[in-house]
Amino acid sequence: MERTCIICGVAANSREHVFPAALGGRRTNKGIYCDTHNGDYSELANIIANQMRFFNSQIGVVGDHQKSTGEVKPVLLIDPATKAEMWLTNTSTAYAEPRIVSATSHSKGGSTIEIAANSPEQLEAYVAELQKKGLNVRIESKGTPGIYYPGTLEGRLDLGGTYTGLRAIAYIAQTFLAHAFPELARLPELAPIKEYTLNNSGKDFAWWLNPYDEEHDPQRKRFSHRVIVGHNADDNVIYARISLFGAFHYGVNLGVAATVSSRSVVFVIDPLAKHPPQDLQKTEYDIAVGYSPKPKNLTKYLGDSIKNGEAKASVDALMRSIQDFQRENLAKKWLQELEETKPTDQETANLFFKRLVSVESGWVLRLIRHSRRNFSQAMSNFENGDIAKILRYYSENDELDPYSSDGLSDYGRMLLEISSAALVRKLIDDFFNGELDQDRMEMLLNGGQGLHTVCRVVLDEATLKVLGYAISDEVY
Ligand SMILES: [Zn+2]
Repeated sequence: MERTCIICGVAANSREHVFPAALGGRRTNKGIYCDTHNGDYSELANIIANQMRFFNSQIGVVGDHQKSTGEVKPVLLIDPATKAEMWLTNTSTAYAEPRIVSATSHSKGGSTIEIAANSPEQLEAYVAELQKKGLNVRIESKGTPGIYYPGTLEGRLDLGGTYTGLRAIAYIAQTFLAHAFPELARLPELAPIKEYTLNNSGKDFAWWLNPYDEEHDPQRKRFSHRVIVGHNADDNVIYARISLFGAFHYGVNLGVAATVSSRSVVFVIDPLAKHPPQDLQKTEYDIAVGYSPKPKNLTKYLGDSIKNGEAKASVDALMRSIQDFQRENLAKKWLQELEETKPTDQETANLFFKRLVSVESGWVLRLIRHSRRNFSQAMSNFENGDIAKILRYYSENDELDPYSSDGLSDYGRMLLEISSAALVRKLIDDFFNGELDQDRMEMLLNGGQGLHTVCRVVLDEATLKVLGYAISDEVY
């Protein structure tokens, strides 16, 4: 194999991840870039890493750099209600900084500040920092541990959603090409794409592919990435087709060079595989697999895909399948625990399911929000009458209050309590009826069954408050 840098031709020795580490790659190829050029690409590699981190963190990918700890690298997002930064993984949410919940000033001077922090240690470090700055502060008392329920956290998707993101995609294509076809990557015909990835000169090398252009492959592992690089003999195009998480699809035209025969290599990367060889499947073909010619009016095409919401639709679809995945894992985990606990009477079962529902209260809150939103959307045409009264009640009461220590309003806390109790009852019933299998557990956590249970409770609360009677028996 050639060992020269594909950009400058000097000896390549950089320990470049063939698959940028963010793709979950666990293989390296030292023969692609020299140290200098590897360094020059670090900005693009970072863009990929940052963009993928959100999804990786939600899926629970443990990257190569976290292998020693086995921990999922969290992603930094903004809580729009408080503007606070929060670290998020598939199983946790944490404040980047302690958060001031409320402040009361005293008539004699001074004030009491209520602060929420991830841990007593984080709070102590924070107070010590303030004291170092000369502020006269001390910890008066420590509260009890609790959960904070953020609203919808916000991040930004650039990968393929902007022109820089597409340059990052072209860089992935170029690196994989060098791995699969070292001699093609060093052809003078590829100078323009290298100029593009390295110096951002030129354009229209990479574009967004429509999800419906992507053939469905049932064999493919969920959330896997696929990179195809190849050479198409019909039009001499050296191409790549990249699909990330099975959700974002891109075409890349790397250059044109004469060839008598087509060939391609398909890489499938499973970011959830813990080690080789399951992390990577490589298949060689003597045809141009997955080749898709560059669309004629690329600039217009790009603008359209971003504007008309295809990028967003892909993100939404991916988020839904990530939620399904989390729900499956959650159900599996609790069923295992249930198997070990084996409650035989109501009381032990009650304790077990109470703990389950309280640990997973974030999911319960999601059901509550979902049920209120569903009702409001379905009934939005009613401007008068009882339904309009309930709609008004809903719009006047929010479950969330970012200025409370747990992020909930009194109303939200009350809904959480009664909904949790109903779910516990349902879980106990299903368990003793022998109906609580994986499917049922998933449905109760965040599916139709759970939603149905919570909807009834939430709607009854509203009709009782507004109309004076529980309505759910008539509706359902
Ligand atoms: Zn170089």
